[in-house]
Amino acid sequence: MAILEEPIKQPLELKNYINGEWVESKSGQVSEVVNPATRKVIAGYPTSTADEVNAAIQAAADAFPEWRRTTPLARVRCLFRLRDLMEENFESLSRIQTQEHGKTIDESRGETRRGIEMVEVATGIPSLMMGYNLEDIAAGIDEYVIYQPLGVFGHIAPFNFPFMVPLWFSPFALATGNTFVVKPSPRAPISQTRLAELIEEAGFPPGVYNLVHGGAEAARIMIDHPDIKGITFVGTTHVGKEVYARCGQTGKRAIVQASAKNFLVIMPDAAEGTIPALLTSLFGNTGQRCLSGANVVIVGRGGASYKKFLDEFVEATSRIKVGYGLDESVQMGPMQAVDGKERTIGYVEKGIADGARLLLDGRQLKITGDYPDDCFLGPTVFEGVTPDMAIGREEIFGPVATVMRTASLDEAITAINASHYGNAACIFTASGRAAREFQYRVTCGNIGINIGIAAPMAFFPFSGMKDSFFGVLHGQGRDAIRFFTESKVAIQRWF
Ligand code: NAD
Repeated sequence: MAILEEPIKQPLELKNYINGEWVESKSGQVSEVVNPATRKVIAGYPTSTADEVNAAIQAAADAFPEWRRTTPLARVRCLFRLRDLMEENFESLSRIQTQEHGKTIDESRGETRRGIEMVEVATGIPSLMMGYNLEDIAAGIDEYVIYQPLGVFGHIAPFNFPFMVPLWFSPFALATGNTFVVKPSPRAPISQTRLAELIEEAGFPPGVYNLVHGGAEAARIMIDHPDIKGITFVGTTHVGKEVYARCGQTGKRAIVQASAKNFLVIMPDAAEGTIPALLTSLFGNTGQRCLSGANVVIVGRGGASYKKFLDEFVEATSRIKVGYGLDESVQMGPMQAVDGKERTIGYVEKGIADGARLLLDGRQLKITGDYPDDCFLGPTVFEGVTPDMAIGREEIFGPVATVMRTASLDEAITAINASHYGNAACIFTASGRAAREFQYRVTCGNIGINIGIAAPMAFFPFSGMKDSFFGVLHGQGRDAIRFFTESKVAIQRWF
């Protein structure tokens, strides 16, 4: 078997990064981070004390006045250096993600690339943050709008893109002159810690960027703290609703990006290349993506045509090679944790009990390589699913495809719009008219047209609707810049 290059060879002792210093937590509570493929312990992270979280927020508050006065050009020079350091460390950053999350190395490389792109876009701040003005709103009077940073922002991160998701926000917050406190996911806190090391190396002044480890308690302290002006949260809907309500109670602006149940609609005229796109959407990141396809809706196909499509789809799915993501030949890694696998198996059992037909059973998986199977689960396909079944309605967040049939596009759109989630929806068709109808009527934030994963680039907002998003402005792009700034209007007259 090939020797797989693991950047983390010995368990790391993760520390908090507060006011430019790496500080050991005094809590005495250390939890393990386990590589889901090998089941080896790769790090320990602390549950930070309230004092430590407060110290990080205080450091960020103290650093704000000077960082805000640092010119936008000088601020983005730090981001340019960070971007270069990310490139230099591209491969090891990616490998760390595979070690802590389980995704394949190619998926991790894609994640690192997307993270770097966020920094690249934020380096445009001297232009992107400009306000606007109008002379002579009345005789001799001019009016203009200035965008100013607000202070300290906090980010509460999910486990599924441990490197990239915080970068949907932090480069934009820092470039606009705010200071930042990130709380990584306790399930996958390593790549954020490595990123903080690069941020330090890039020369951001002490206190501008801080990192504290911990779970819900640390997050709640951040949300309730009067010196934090806004929170960005990415995670499950039930936690997101609590975060959004708490932000409202404490008068904070918030971006809350939450869970999903995404539909992939296959029209009868869909092109040949549809199946590979479906596989990437459904099983990429082992189904643990907020943009993952879940419900495959096959529209308007008669018996033979439906059966042919389904047979080809199941056959292609059964050939996906599952194993340790650092093996370049592997196409799907393990679930990130044992409880995620158990939750997914629970859904498989519910699907069977509800009368859906199990066409491919991931529980029967044979792994490539000699690894403990605690977190591994193979791709699974159900047919005859309806939107009222638990597997058709709820977010599984695992490698399970649930196939449905409808007679018409109208019926498919009705099913999508009846879902309480609204993150993404994709259509595969040769018809511009069908595609436009879909884009026009579907109540989801990210639409794919012959694209299986409608992931917006760094210069577009990462949208979402209904129970998949709470807030007004989104992460990334102009929305993020607007979120991290307040508009101030000035009107002037000179006598
Ligand atoms: P999660 O809700 O379990 O945890 C997210 C973060 O919230 C973690 O940092 C956690 O420590 C913290 N947290 C937990 N309980 C909290 C509480 N009561 N108050 C405040 N913070 C709390 O989510 P997860 O399992 O890490 O992430 C997976 C979920 O994220 C999926 O539902 C997925 O769809 C969603 N997601 C959404 C997007 C999007 O853009 N819409 C992107 C990625 C992931």
